[in-house]
Amino acid sequence: MLIPGVEIPHLCAQCDDAPCVPSCPVNALSITKETGAIGVDEDACISCGQCITACPGQIPFLHPDHKKAVICNLCDGDPACAKVCQEGRYNALWTVNKTPSPSYKLYAKLPEIPTREIAERLFGEKAKELL
Ligand code: SF4
Ligand code: SF4
Ligand code: SF4
Repeated sequence: MLIPGVEIPHLCAQCDDAPCVPSCPVNALSITKETGAIGVDEDACISCGQCITACPGQIPFLHPDHKKAVICNLCDGDPACAKVCQEGRYNALWTVNKTPSPSYKLYAKLPEIPTREIAERLFGEKAKELL
């Protein structure tokens, strides 16, 4: 939440080419065959942050306690975030069957970008002062 009241999800877009994976110097990242999600080998991760830099949306983050990389694992194929969003009737997140497409990467955005778009809709010109 970069602006009070404008909370946006900042989630892995499951890019087809997953630039985070080859960026890891210790091969701690891999694409999970069953779900297509990025798997993190926490034992191997050395907390270098290179996957964050390589991601077009800088989406991976280091856990505040154990400092290992955290990336959405799609809840092993049953995304809890989509479920709760649907249960609340917000209809902002839902589960889709993925087909190969380079367009997934377009969803990997820095949080400032969607925050600015939403803030401009909510607050008009004033949004520029907020972000
Ligand atoms: S969005 Fe970022 S973390 Fe997810 S696959 Fe793409 S590069 Fe990796
Ligand atoms: S933070 Fe961990 S997972 Fe990310 S590139 Fe570094 S070692 Fe690999
Ligand atoms: S709830 Fe599950 S699917 Fe949703 S962002 Fe978190 S790990 Fe990913």
